[in-house]
Amino acid sequence: GNIVGICVDRSPEMLVAILAVLKSGAAYLPLDPEFPEARLAYMMEDSGPAAVLTTESLRSRMPCGVRLLLLDSDELKVALSKTPDSNPQVKLRAGDAAYVIYTSGSTGRPKGTVISHHALAAFLNGIGEHIAFGAGHVHLAVTTIGFDISILELFMPLCHGARVVLASRDDARDAAALARLVRSSGANSMQATPSHWLMLLASDRACLKGLRVLSGGEALPRETAVALCEAADEVFNVYGPTEATVWASVHRLSGNDLSSEAPAVVTIGRPFANYRMYVLDHCLEPRPVGAAGDLYIAGAALAQGYLRRPSLTAERFVADPFAVPGDRMYRTGDLARWRADGTLEFLGRADQQIKLRGFRIELGEIEAALKALPEVSQAAVIVNDGPGGKELVAYLVAANGTSCEPENLRAVLSERLPDYMLPSAFVTLEVLPL
Ligand code: AMP
Repeated sequence: GNIVGICVDRSPEMLVAILAVLKSGAAYLPLDPEFPEARLAYMMEDSGPAAVLTTESLRSRMPCGVRLLLLDSDELKVALSKTPDSNPQVKLRAGDAAYVIYTSGSTGRPKGTVISHHALAAFLNGIGEHIAFGAGHVHLAVTTIGFDISILELFMPLCHGARVVLASRDDARDAAALARLVRSSGANSMQATPSHWLMLLASDRACLKGLRVLSGGEALPRETAVALCEAADEVFNVYGPTEATVWASVHRLSGNDLSSEAPAVVTIGRPFANYRMYVLDHCLEPRPVGAAGDLYIAGAALAQGYLRRPSLTAERFVADPFAVPGDRMYRTGDLARWRADGTLEFLGRADQQIKLRGFRIELGEIEAALKALPEVSQAAVIVNDGPGGKELVAYLVAANGTSCEPENLRAVLSERLPDYMLPSAFVTLEVLPL
């Protein structure tokens, strides 16, 4: 029933720490060491971890009053050497939490999604029917543990006797370094967002030879799919939100998806075992094939909800009218339609949540952070097509008698928001008198 934070750099110890927390019966809370201290402090204050596993070099980033276990301290090493190396005898219940992952929050506060062991097992079993892992597989893991898609990368190989190669943060970000690692590690499986795949394709297309490509987290444009299918062995498009445990639907790409008559965005496929998906209208009636509607997900892999946020949970996790009483479905906020072939087409969002280079961002959270500054009276943030691709632009109205210097705003925001949520440009607007 406890939550245990994990704030360590990408290393084998990170993976050991995750497995250790799960074995202890607690839920792990990933804390990305690159996040601003204020955000890390907020996540710890909100979730109240019993302890945080970290290292000496990251200690200074931890807030006061949190119990720290320093993995590289002599004290902990001595303590560990005195404990048995057998599995702890913990009686887990299926509903016990396995992890809590924070995502951007539209009201300005990130929210923690709580996933149970039952949901985690439902996901791992369900996806395994479509994307097999076995002794011959070498999966190159590139995603921070702060995002739930890391769970496929770390747990699927280990559950099935395959090998995980952990890419360092720097290697994962740098296309040339990542391409070298793909080659030198002998990887034959890797999962990344379409933006990440594009980066790799642009740098060294040939390194994808022999690779099983899993693409997810963002819409997969047909053009990217064509390039991936030409370069790699096998390509899957996977779709799902954190609230439904990693992925909910899968599609293995074939020639039909690549022809010039195929839709510009690759289908997100069909829900796999333990998941159900519905396309509904505002009265929760199913939409006919070809008609757009709100996409809902139901089944064994749904989250328990948001940590200590009952009203937000009730808003998004609603009664499933197509199942037995008590079953719930999650309103994803995505728009979709069924195709005649029984697969689902992703049509975008119905709200202000966006994906920018694979990162899930609520524009409302950036706006709230801006409006909290004394020099800002109003703020709106949008995504624009910039010279280097999509970028965030903030439009502001300065509070009376103040001025908004972009550099100052950026510096103050960077103390609260991760880098990927910082606007590239700030535009101050004048309010004209009526
Ligand atoms: P996250 O919780 O970070 O996994 O983000 C979930 C959201 O990412 C979904 O609700 C979709 O808006 C988007 N998403 C994830 N996978 C795909 C995909 N394969 N195609 C289109 N959108 C996707």
